[in-house]
Amino acid sequence: MHSPLAVENGTNLKPYNTFGLPCVARTLVRITSEADVRRLLGDPELGRAPKFILGGGSNLVLTRDLDACVLKLEVKGRALVETRDDCHIVEVGAGENWHDTVQWCLAQGLPGLENMALIPGTVGAAPVQNIGAYGIELKDRFESLDAVDLVTGRTITLTAEQCRFGYRDSVFKQHLAGKSIITRVRLRLPRPWQPVLGYLELERKVQETGITEPSAQQIFDWVCAVRRAKLPDPAVVGNVGSFFKNPVVTPEQCRDIIARDPHIVHYPMEDGSFKLAAGWMIDACGWKGKSIGRAGVYEKQALVLVNRGGASGAEVVTLARAIQESVYGRFGIRLEPEPVVV
Ligand SMILES: Cc1cc2nc3c(=O)[nH]c(=O)nc-3n(C[C@H](O)[C@H](O)[C@H](O)COP(=O)(O)OP(=O)(O)OC[C@H]3O[C@@H](n4cnc5c(N)ncnc54)[C@H](O)[C@@H]3O)c2cc1C
Repeated sequence: MHSPLAVENGTNLKPYNTFGLPCVARTLVRITSEADVRRLLGDPELGRAPKFILGGGSNLVLTRDLDACVLKLEVKGRALVETRDDCHIVEVGAGENWHDTVQWCLAQGLPGLENMALIPGTVGAAPVQNIGAYGIELKDRFESLDAVDLVTGRTITLTAEQCRFGYRDSVFKQHLAGKSIITRVRLRLPRPWQPVLGYLELERKVQETGITEPSAQQIFDWVCAVRRAKLPDPAVVGNVGSFFKNPVVTPEQCRDIIARDPHIVHYPMEDGSFKLAAGWMIDACGWKGKSIGRAGVYEKQALVLVNRGGASGAEVVTLARAIQESVYGRFGIRLEPEPVVV
């Protein structure tokens, strides 16, 4: 016998999004298994209602109440399911917290995720925008995932290739957006483990400490320290991390922008294109520390927009548009938001 679906009506989502934006969901259902999704789809009322998938709410800008059935991912469980010559495969429920999972893997002697420590949110949302930090993206540690089709109720398994991971992108931000709910993710942790240190701030830690061969735990501690110094804690100041993607441009576009401003921070990419530092451009336009209404630009990092207390989603969007316009006016580049705006 299954327990009945956990259904709530008129739920305030303010505690469930890290920006702390007000939003009332018509219905909220806690999803603890694939069977819960299928039971929901079989319900005469809930099955037909429009649906919205919610993880930890750390990549969302909620601008209105949701006249939808919000599916809050609470599928749990972590296990080492396979060991091959070159990797360990760990299967994790989509509702598990990402950072706790990084820590859990380390505690089991399964390193490989440490560069992505302290990224908020759930494991199920990690493939959605192919999360990444300090030189590693989810796609570098990904084996496959299970998702339930929200129309047919069928479970599908997708490989990395089928997820079409890109920079902060995947099929779940494109044609599968809102259509399939990720319930389980299998992570591929390399064997033997090799540290990934190419990133400037980690190189700096190597120089400062003289530790040239850090352990995975050491890298984890460095990443946590760097992030805590640089990013606001959502429990204290509402935010969603980086608000805009770093624009990727052709060599010709990059030359054109350097001609406008020779100091622009840019990084060459493997495919010959260049990534521009969005935070640097926003700072150059004078936005750091500024506010519109109760939404502001974080004092220590211009790429992060913050809730100065009681902001609405509309205020955040107004600020974001004003930033986009001034960056476009000065550099001819249209910044694209990283979070999902609802
Ligand atoms: C302080 C801070 C720092 C951050 N740093 C980083 C960083 O370094 N790198 C990085 O990549 N991101 C970063 N982020 C963004 C965010 O943490 C990630 O995008 C995270 O993966 C979002 O997870 P979530 O569970 O909160 O997703 P949510 O915000 O709940 O959802 C995001 C989107 O994914 C969809 N979704 C969620 N779960 C599922 C699912 N199971 N199936 C299908 N669709 C789903 C939602 O419908 C929504 O469209 C940061 C955010 C904050 C607040």
